Amino acid sequence: MIMKIKRYDYAQQFGADIEQLLEAIRSMLLSGDYILTSEVKQFETEFSDYIGSTHVLGVNSGTDALILALMALGIGRGDEVITQANTFYATVAAICFVGAKPVLVDALEDSFLIDESQIESAITARTKAIIPVHLFGKATPMKRILAIAQQYSLFVVEDAAQSHGAKIDGQAVGTFGDVGCFSFHPSKNFAAAGDAGAVVTNNSELAERVRIIRSLGQREQNQHVALGLNSKLDAIQSRILSWKLPQLDSWNSARRRVAQIYRDQLADQPIEFQEHNQDNEHVYHLLQIRTENRDRLLAHLVRDGIDVTIRYPTPIHLQDAFTDQGWSRGQFPVAEKLAKELLCLPIRPDMLTQEIGYVCNSIKRFFGATPK
Ligand SMILES: *Cc1c(COP(=O)(O)O)cnc(C)c1O
Repeated sequence: MIMKIKRYDYAQQFGADIEQLLEAIRSMLLSGDYILTSEVKQFETEFSDYIGSTHVLGVNSGTDALILALMALGIGRGDEVITQANTFYATVAAICFVGAKPVLVDALEDSFLIDESQIESAITARTKAIIPVHLFGKATPMKRILAIAQQYSLFVVEDAAQSHGAKIDGQAVGTFGDVGCFSFHPSKNFAAAGDAGAVVTNNSELAERVRIIRSLGQREQNQHVALGLNSKLDAIQSRILSWKLPQLDSWNSARRRVAQIYRDQLADQPIEFQEHNQDNEHVYHLLQIRTENRDRLLAHLVRDGIDVTIRYPTPIHLQDAFTDQGWSRGQFPVAEKLAKELLCLPIRPDMLTQEIGYVCNSIKRFFGATPK
């Protein structure tokens, strides 16, 4: 019997008492007060308590969070920013948008995170910042990156778009560097009902600059003191995010439980998982498995009704958008290998043991039938 195994269940996230939320949204619609309302300020305060950062500025999207963070740090033409070749497009697009040059380093085989040992040799006199990406929900170890940044006077901008609530020794990612960037895109662990994002920082001056830049460069109305964008977190999205935030930790724990069941049930299969050390370091935005038979396994799982996907099939240096950067095939071999071998299994906080078992059995059947 074919089961349908979904990657998302949004209705589940709102809970049974959704009427209360709809009533709040109804009053918001009728009030006519829409921009940077008390709901936005309330969510910013709640998220700052949750993440453990002094300032939270809600913006349009995770992509804008990165762009605004780089602008606020004064990074632009003539500057270089280091990040990893296996990240999502937006990390690198943001660097290009402010006029800076992205400098890539490769990823690590086991953690799929930035290879810290390659950072120093990528630093030049023009380097201004490092953007480690807490990819797939796993916290990047920050000690060495912070030490390198201090030694060379570089900013650290954390791309935490996939890792809300992931922690290293109790400290949430996004709070280690000068600034952290979050996305609340519907695909993320912590999802608005549309595009949304936030910049977090403990630096008051930087926070003030982001506040100005997100509001068309205005310090106060009609007083435009800088070149800005219009990128403010929407009030209704803020209300929705406040509605969901109290559940985020339990959802992340549930994701870890699901991941552990997958790991246990598939332990004897010819696949690898992303390295996992400390308990809270991973919030499993994506559950990646790695196999050389990726494309055939994907087709097999799709035939069995399982919503699997590939993140990301083309590494940054081979994307058409970046051809003018002069990168070439073979330059970042680990990122290229991961792009060919990683497959995302469905993972949801509300996933039933029976559903996980169905996916695992399908994988076992695949490998039973096709010797590696
Ligand atoms: C989703 C994502 C972004 C961009 O966030 P949006 O809200 O979609 O603009 C940036 N970086 C990473 C790693 C992401 O996963």
